[in-house]
Amino acid sequence: MRIGLQANLATLPTAEYLRRFIAKYPFLEQGSPVALITGNVPVGVARGDIVGDGLMLIGDAARQADPLTGGGIANAMHAGRLAAEVAVEAVHRADNSKDFLEEYQRRWRQGRGRKMERNHRLKQRFSAAQRATPSFLRAFAVSAVGK
Ligand SMILES: Cc1cc2nc3c(=O)[nH]c(=O)nc-3n(C[C@H](O)[C@H](O)[C@H](O)COP(=O)(O)OP(=O)(O)OC[C@H]3O[C@@H](n4cnc5c(N)ncnc54)[C@H](O)[C@@H]3O)c2cc1C
Repeated sequence: MRIGLQANLATLPTAEYLRRFIAKYPFLEQGSPVALITGNVPVGVARGDIVGDGLMLIGDAARQADPLTGGGIANAMHAGRLAAEVAVEAVHRADNSKDFLEEYQRRWRQGRGRKMERNHRLKQRFSAAQRATPSFLRAFAVSAVGK
């Protein structure tokens, strides 16, 4: 069981939302907790470089999670593959300069990164309350997954 919150909309402690959600569905109360995991997801897009000399940032470190959904696993895996492909080329050429590694940044930004930019613009254009409506989620958040 997991619950995600938009920090700027939440007025109660996170655990209280979880408690209320479980209380709403009696069958959920039949389970028992095995672990409590909490954390933040960086839901923006990187404005600066995600590469440097001998450095490629991937996943949360590169702010690659979907700004609308907070989903970051698939993007991190995808970016990891792009970075690995460029890393292989870098090893063959014995060149791990920022100039060369920018190829990874270019591939990310021209591919999935572009959709994340779009989702970030949507996030900025619509208020947090508007983004939480079922119609918005149907139109944008769901369609953002897997495309
Ligand atoms: C509570 C929660 C729920 C989430 N749910 C979903 C979900 O349902 N679907 C989804 O797609 N995304 C979800 N996300 C987002 C997703 O987990 C992240 O976007 C994704 O895991 C990012 O992958 P990553 O490899 O960049 O970072 P991480 O998966 O965080 O991996 C970073 C790793 O580096 C290690 N590390 C940190 N510092 C050091 C150090 N100094 N030395 C060595 N190792 C270090 C950490 O221990 C960790 O293992 C969720 C996030 C949170 C917090």
